[in-house]
Amino acid sequence: MHEYSIATEIYDSAIRVAEENHATSVSAIELEIGELAMINCDQLTFCIESIVKGTLFEGAELKIAEIKAEIRCGCGYTGKAADDSMRSYLICPQCNAPAELIRGREIIIREITICT
Ligand SMILES: [Zn+2]
Repeated sequence: MHEYSIATEIYDSAIRVAEENHATSVSAIELEIGELAMINCDQLTFCIESIVKGTLFEGAELKIAEIKAEIRCGCGYTGKAADDSMRSYLICPQCNAPAELIRGREIIIREITICT
């Protein structure tokens, strides 16, 4: 399962940060997930909750914020892509040229709240 490997990566990064900061427990984890990251947030939550059982992260509140996709085009346009369908996400609504995706595929740990 795709979400399970993502959850493992998130956990590995988060536990490293928590240990570096001498955490005794973790009360919250905030994630930012791009809408094009192809992540099912419910499944991701489920995977993370099963991974953290018995760790510093057990019982931590998991918050997930979705990041809207954003593009940048050579014509100077920055913002939402032309259409919501996956195929045309990267088309500039101003000039119809292919544009560069600048946000929307990221999987970021924004904040970890620890107790020391
Ligand atoms: Zn354009």
